[in-house]
Amino acid sequence: MSRTATAVAMVLALAAGSAEAQSTTLKYGSWGFDLAGRDQATKPGDDFFRYANGAWLDRTAIPGDKPGVSLRLLMSDLAEARLHGLVEEAAKTAGHEPRTLEGKVGAFYTSFMDEARIDALGAKPIAPELDAIRAAKTREALGALMGRTVRDFEGSAFNLGIDVDVKDISHYAVYLGQGGLGLPDRDYYLQPSFAEKKAAWQAYVEELLTLEGWPNPAANAAAIVALETKIAQASWTRAEQRNPDATYNPYTLAELEKAAPGFPWRGFLGEAGLGAPAKVVVVEKTALPKIAAIFAETPVDVLQAWLAFSVADNAAPYLSKSFTDAAFEMRQKGLSGQAEQQVRWKRGVHAVSGGDYGAGDRFDRFGNLGWAVGELYTAKYFPPTAKAKVQALVVDLKSAYAARIQKLDWMSPATKAEALKKLAAYNVKVGYPDKTRDYSGVVVLDDDLVGNVRRAAEADWAFYAKRSKGPVDRQDWLMTPQTNDAYNGSLIDIVFPAGILAPPIFDADADPAINYGAVGGVIGHELTHGFDDQGRKYDAQGRLRDWWSPADAKTFEARAKVFGAQYSTYEPVPGAHVNGDLTMGENIADLGGLTLGLDAYHASLRGKPAPVIDGLTGDQRVFLGWAQAWRGKVRDDAVRRQVVSDPHSPRQYRVNGPVRNIDAWYAAFGVKPGEALYVPPEKRVRIW
Ligand SMILES: [Zn+2]
Repeated sequence: MSRTATAVAMVLALAAGSAEAQSTTLKYGSWGFDLAGRDQATKPGDDFFRYANGAWLDRTAIPGDKPGVSLRLLMSDLAEARLHGLVEEAAKTAGHEPRTLEGKVGAFYTSFMDEARIDALGAKPIAPELDAIRAAKTREALGALMGRTVRDFEGSAFNLGIDVDVKDISHYAVYLGQGGLGLPDRDYYLQPSFAEKKAAWQAYVEELLTLEGWPNPAANAAAIVALETKIAQASWTRAEQRNPDATYNPYTLAELEKAAPGFPWRGFLGEAGLGAPAKVVVVEKTALPKIAAIFAETPVDVLQAWLAFSVADNAAPYLSKSFTDAAFEMRQKGLSGQAEQQVRWKRGVHAVSGGDYGAGDRFDRFGNLGWAVGELYTAKYFPPTAKAKVQALVVDLKSAYAARIQKLDWMSPATKAEALKKLAAYNVKVGYPDKTRDYSGVVVLDDDLVGNVRRAAEADWAFYAKRSKGPVDRQDWLMTPQTNDAYNGSLIDIVFPAGILAPPIFDADADPAINYGAVGGVIGHELTHGFDDQGRKYDAQGRLRDWWSPADAKTFEARAKVFGAQYSTYEPVPGAHVNGDLTMGENIADLGGLTLGLDAYHASLRGKPAPVIDGLTGDQRVFLGWAQAWRGKVRDDAVRRQVVSDPHSPRQYRVNGPVRNIDAWYAAFGVKPGEALYVPPEKRVRIW
């Protein structure tokens, strides 16, 4: 992205921070921070997260239908209300088989809301899949059916995906990985602490088999969970999966068949619509042969039952009440501690628009028509001025990062040169993609929900499969515009959808220090991912090539180790510790992001002193902006699940973890030895 005149003007406007720049449209407080949410009885040095957010945490209850509550979730509520309005409006004009984008969105939503019809149908809508499974009487045929996992409701022992080939970055590659687990992680099958969840899972498998009329549900459920347990034993851990070198293993089809015999790879890839690709990249190299062997020794009737269960499990959100209730009890309540099921219209909005609502719905990432909804959403709610303001902040953060890299005392000049080249190459995408998705061939009927899901999934996969034959699309997005999240991608890009660019992350009218702490910290977080223990393995072109000198890597790893050891001492709920290795990349990004946000704020002052507002200095407000962005809490079950499966630390450590390693925080809040978060200067971790 180039530094345009408009972008510079926006930076200066954000830096002004004068009284007349304040506006009454602010979401939090009179300058972007909710002062009443602080707990001034807690010393910042004892628990900064609580100091910044304690009063709000004490007076805010977690709603019964949610696993947690946070300002970020409230932001999603606003987006959800807007999306609800959009789909309701679209539904009014849809008709039976509409042709327009708005009409298709409306017809899909109508089909989801027709509960009476859906309940009357029971398991009938998935009859075609179940008939095909009954007709498949050999492992050859059943393995081939698993290939349908990419475009229909079937599960699979192996994950299949198309992504940029990291060793040939102008082309796509077919990636093949371990799969087959219904529970969130292998630990759920293998660790005694999850025994209760595993038992509940077996009961759920039995219930779904019963609901769809599959024979011997109890015996089959026991056999299915035993099968998944064997696959869990063969599977890599999440920490092992984070190594980009070990997870790139190119094979020809003949090599794959030799390395992992016992599974019908050609039938599987053919049924996925990929024909016979010249090359597949195997992710978990040692796991695949083991899972193929497990497949080969499993009785045909158990494989059939397993596939039949997976179809019901994946289709459950779109089937009758018995299915949706069973899936809710297992997935949202049992695994995330959510007490109540969301009302139907909310589920309908998510089904059409996307967004993770904890249902384990495989179609929830982009929604069934997510890009269509995104087009309608941004047309109404994300003006080009907002896009320009955020682009300006990105320019500022990149300059701050470049200055830091140049000053690093531990990085060699050669490595610094590569880092600066990569930083300059970053493509920052804001708000929405420039190219829209073509939905003209997708038939949407207002009375065929499961058919709509099937056709949308088929079209979505066809889009990626067709594109995979051409050059890499460098303008691609992996999140829809309405998504409340951001990411750092393999195209040397960072992406901030319109959905995340709202308070408390970004408020165009807030005091600049708050924005630099919040969205500045988030942008900085994403930028540093390109340079951390994983990102450094990709160069400025996105090629898998470690551009660090061994000595630089050693220093970084030594510092990261000290940092990880700090996190491993954190215990959010009794007995559940943060995993310093699993969360390493995200923790380093938090420390780097907040550091860069602060630097960029200082630079934005252009030599002038920061104003004092309500007795708070500029630096104090930057740290408070970051802390407010993480304001929230989640249920204990969700925390327990998070610490084993989520590479992000629980929210209080995303605040307390980084601040105690930043000198400016000690100066800003007068933090002293003896306070709980105090780290002596020589023990503070300095990476970026
Ligand atoms: Zn991250």
